[in-house]
Amino acid sequence: MAIDILVLGAGAAGIAAARRLAGLGRSCLVLEAGPAAGGRARTDRATFGLPVDLGCHWLHAPAHNPLRGLADRLGHRYEATGQPLRHAAPGGGWLGNRAVQARGAYHARCRDRILAAARAGEDRPVAELLDTPAEDALQASFESDFIAKWGVAPEAASSLDYARYVDEGGDLPVTDGLGALIGRLAEGLPLRLGTAVTAVRLVSPAGIRAETAAGTVEARAAILTMSTGVLQAEAIRFDPPLPAWKLDAIAGLPMGHCNKIVLAFERQVFDLPDHCLVLPAGAAHEAVELLLRPGGRPVAIALYSGPLGRDLAVAGAAAMAEDCIDRLAALFGSALRARVAPGRLIADWDAAPFVRGYVAAALPGRADARIDLARPVEDRLFFAGEAASTRFMGDLHGAWLSGIAAAEAADRALAAGGS
Ligand SMILES: Cc1cc2nc3c(=O)[nH]c(=O)nc-3n(C[C@H](O)[C@H](O)[C@H](O)COP(=O)(O)OP(=O)(O)OC[C@H]3O[C@@H](n4cnc5c(N)ncnc54)[C@H](O)[C@@H]3O)c2cc1C
Repeated sequence: MAIDILVLGAGAAGIAAARRLAGLGRSCLVLEAGPAAGGRARTDRATFGLPVDLGCHWLHAPAHNPLRGLADRLGHRYEATGQPLRHAAPGGGWLGNRAVQARGAYHARCRDRILAAARAGEDRPVAELLDTPAEDALQASFESDFIAKWGVAPEAASSLDYARYVDEGGDLPVTDGLGALIGRLAEGLPLRLGTAVTAVRLVSPAGIRAETAAGTVEARAAILTMSTGVLQAEAIRFDPPLPAWKLDAIAGLPMGHCNKIVLAFERQVFDLPDHCLVLPAGAAHEAVELLLRPGGRPVAIALYSGPLGRDLAVAGAAAMAEDCIDRLAALFGSALRARVAPGRLIADWDAAPFVRGYVAAALPGRADARIDLARPVEDRLFFAGEAASTRFMGDLHGAWLSGIAAAEAADRALAAGGS
């Protein structure tokens, strides 16, 4: 058997795992179903002549994010001081400092209640722990923030999972594209693209066999990095079947939703600083974020998360574009309707067959599912990916660090077995 470890999937977790295995002197091969490395980290340059991230966009937690240092080494540019932020006021115009502070204080009170419940050993729906708001708008702003991060409504999410997430703030947009950075970090790795794994078998003596339409590949162990959406869809057959505790963990981590549309305008229609993040005044359960003027260009990137994101993606690109233009017209005047330039980009992650959603959100009562997702099976099948992170779940760097952890665990297991 020539290969030590097969890595299944070339998203952030798979690339990090392959890089770490190379550092440990282990042979590996990465099998990736899609046409390029990156997974949910994907940058389009062709459509608008500037890097536009269709999946992840911000380097979160920049103080401890290992991808920041890697970007620095490659000279890959990001907005080191963060980005300007505007909250739209419900009646028009922008919220003032006091109203923004009131929102922040309300969010902190909700967070305190969720952390107190975690300390008491509770794992409840997040919605049950929100502070009673003085105004509906406060609760709507917390919900919107929550849905943007987790892709599901607070009713459907575990409070303990939320409490475990390390939120350091300081999100940095990546000027050269976060997907492009992950693509650069994959350069030189042993990677087979367009190779979807359809079955994984444990074979004797102590090995694994991955089946693809182009044939089979054997190795001593495998690191699986595909999303829980892919695992829940049973797109891969396991022989023997995965144990009940692993299937239960996968079932406890359904995918949330976040889909994007990108529109350009014939001239500058946004009277705002470049790279501005605008949060429209939304109703409860609505999570819409608008990234305006990336690279100084008259471009709008709209992120629709949670149930609204799911429904608009199902309704189709025209419906999403119409909703986006309506929201922009309400903020910047209806003259912009006549200035929409031809061409648009849609990122419907729910429909992407090798992802099937945004990120995994633990169901209420199921925060520990991430721990079981990360546990190996028979010391031959190792699991990584954003869903397997217990501190930076949902985040690109969580996926990256979980890939490194799985590579080290697989290396130790092989060494313990004498190889
Ligand atoms: C719209 C959107 C916005 C986001 N914004 C941010 C953000 O701003 N900041 C942030 O930190 N995170 C963000 N995220 C989350 C971040 O993108 C993910 O956490 C991270 O990219 C997940 O990496 P992964 O390696 O776990 O999974 P993936 O990227 O899904 O990689 C898994 C890989 O496995 C492949 N695969 C699937 N099935 C098979 C198969 N059968 N055989 C072989 N290969 C297979 C897939 O094609 C994929 O390449 C965002 C995600 C989305 C969708």
